[in-house]
Amino acid sequence: MAKMYYNQDVNEQALQGKTVAIIGYGSQGHAHAQNLKDSGYDVVVGVRPGKSFEKAEADGLRVTSAAEAAQSADIIMVLVPDERQTQVYNEAIKPALTAGKSLVFAHGFNIHFNQIVPPPDVDVFLVAPKGPGHLVRRTYESGAGVPALFAIHQNVSGKAQEVALAYAKGIGSTRAGVLETSFKEETETDLFGEQAVLCGGLTSLVKAGFETLVEAGYQPELAYFECLHELKLIVDLMYEGGLSGMRYSISDTAQWGDFVSGPRVVDEATKDRMKDILKDIQTGKFAKGWLLENQLNRPEFRAIEQAEEAHQIEQVGRELRAMMPFVNPANNKKENEVTS
Ligand code: NDP
Ligand code: MG
Ligand code: MG
Repeated sequence: MAKMYYNQDVNEQALQGKTVAIIGYGSQGHAHAQNLKDSGYDVVVGVRPGKSFEKAEADGLRVTSAAEAAQSADIIMVLVPDERQTQVYNEAIKPALTAGKSLVFAHGFNIHFNQIVPPPDVDVFLVAPKGPGHLVRRTYESGAGVPALFAIHQNVSGKAQEVALAYAKGIGSTRAGVLETSFKEETETDLFGEQAVLCGGLTSLVKAGFETLVEAGYQPELAYFECLHELKLIVDLMYEGGLSGMRYSISDTAQWGDFVSGPRVVDEATKDRMKDILKDIQTGKFAKGWLLENQLNRPEFRAIEQAEEAHQIEQVGRELRAMMPFVNPANNKKENEVTS
């Protein structure tokens, strides 16, 4: 088994007395900044004026520009979107990246695909939570944590691993387990996971199931509950007990259907296409396409996004979820705001 790191394996001294700049206050940024602050570390958030700036201030954090935050910090964590990082790095971080500082990422994309080439006299590592930022915050607050990976790209100080682990503990990840990887492995597996399974594979599976039922004349509302809503309940069981734990809870009829029909949906041909997807990631073809798409102001991204938002499953879902405010606490809040 891979070496796992937990709370007791961490030397918190490694991060004490240092200032951590969190550049960006989005999904990951708000969670890292607040968790590290609550863990007792000195945190400064670096963002441009606007919503994120106001939110970070409202959350009680010290907030300034990305350039000033990078200037004043020992550890600079880059949590702006991957496709913006090169620009923010060149304009705000690079001038402040003096010898002895640490440049940190939550995803290896820009280092691995050579978009950012840091100077040789700084430590470069990543601490990548394996979960959405909002869960990194929510689990921390409840005393739990989201597992994470760390990887060392440059270790000038000889202490990069100690600092990375202290950082991982500061955001709550060593409560769940942290393991070492490389920038290459983290980048390629993260991209593959989100494309083939977690996001791409899953949304396409859900839509195909929904469309099959609706095209056969079944009610769209029922198809929504069957193919999307209920998924969370099944995934929770898998999360708690693996595939067997989930199969223990479902009926034997469902389990038999799982055994005989699952492999008809996802077969060897699907796996061959997964291998093609992995190859495009490994060769840099996917990264190149995404970087070019951004340079062109995302013509294809926007067109697909519009079409996807107009899909019948989304229309039906919006209506059904409006009647179930408990499903999404944000819906609850909106409702309270309207009535108060
Ligand atoms: P978000 O899109 O949620 O974060 C956007 C933040 O970056 C906002 O605060 C935004 O501020 C700020 N920002 C954008 N452009 C600039 C700029 N030019 N100057 C200063 N601030 C800017 O990003 P994520 O949290 O999703 O991703 C951050 C990193 O974490 C990425 O490397 C990603 O791969 C990684 N990661 C993300 C996960 C996730 O859960 N989303 C999971 C694991 C890793 P403004 O409001 O001004 O636009
Ligand atoms: Mg990921
Ligand atoms: Mg990712």
